[in-house]
Amino acid sequence: MELGFIGLGAMGSKMLANVIKAGHSVTVFDIGQAAVDAAVALGAKKAANAAETARGKEIVLLSLPNSAIVESTVLGPGGILEGAEQGLLIVDLSSITPQSIQKIAGIAKAKGVNIIDAPVSGGTAGAQMGTLSIMVGGEQADFERALPVLQSIGSKIDHVGAIGAGDTVKLVNNLLLGVNMVAVSEALCLGVKAGIKPEVLYQIISNSSGNSYALTAKYKKFIAAGNFEPGFMIDLQYKDLQLAVDTAKGLKVPLVLGNIAQQAYEIARASGLGAEDISAVIKLGEALCDI
Ligand code: NAD
Repeated sequence: MELGFIGLGAMGSKMLANVIKAGHSVTVFDIGQAAVDAAVALGAKKAANAAETARGKEIVLLSLPNSAIVESTVLGPGGILEGAEQGLLIVDLSSITPQSIQKIAGIAKAKGVNIIDAPVSGGTAGAQMGTLSIMVGGEQADFERALPVLQSIGSKIDHVGAIGAGDTVKLVNNLLLGVNMVAVSEALCLGVKAGIKPEVLYQIISNSSGNSYALTAKYKKFIAAGNFEPGFMIDLQYKDLQLAVDTAKGLKVPLVLGNIAQQAYEIARASGLGAEDISAVIKLGEALCDI
């Protein structure tokens, strides 16, 4: 299939590699030259902008940081809709607000372009292995059209409802991830301060009722290794908690832990940790415990 791929960061670069491995011909665009060069080395063709990436393609995949960037990439000058032909399908793999993808989809539809929201979960490791969970919102026919491509990057793919439903499931998931990561950091600091070695805490808790993805995915590779290169960066987790907080406000749902967790990431950002992996929230307790 002739595809476009825009956004070649921590996730996009790895998903692209699997899409190419599955035999698709891919044209790419990213504002970062190094990311584009790496994609070309994998066999991708490069485009000058989003419009050119979309020209003549059947499907264009996006893996971009936030709603504003997805909106400008699709709707803005030099954006996808300028280059798109009737029948193009946009598959947005980014995590953005349901309202934003619904707005973009409404404008695109009037130009004969369909969109599905297909946010992913499973981190950079899942992206590398092609084992991501993908939660899709949109029309059934578009889901089925995208499925062969989605199967090259994910192993658990669910159609969860109309446009925006995928992003809604994703923000609920990342509310839990964000809260759990702060809880893991706090709990490990307490255990260490009380005299237990961190690796002992990890060995036991990862096989006990306190276990979570935040512990198993983030302890050895990041916290124990003292390497906080993302991964999933604090700025993006902060954004995802904002999506959850905004949605909860609109629905009048209290989000006690979500708001507290978001403040922890706000402190981390104010401490200069925004571009580090979310496991770096443990550094907020560094003065208290030495992990
Ligand atoms: P990232 O910052 O590493 O990558 C984003 C890429 O988009 C960068 O290469 C950047 O140069 C590019 N970009 C930014 N603005 C652009 C523009 N206007 N046009 C073209 N390219 C542009 O982020 P990431 O970690 O790869 O995350 C991408 C999306 O996936 C986000 O929405 C994030 O929330 C979501 N996500 C991330 C993870 C993770 O573990 N990192 C997991 C699941 C979902």
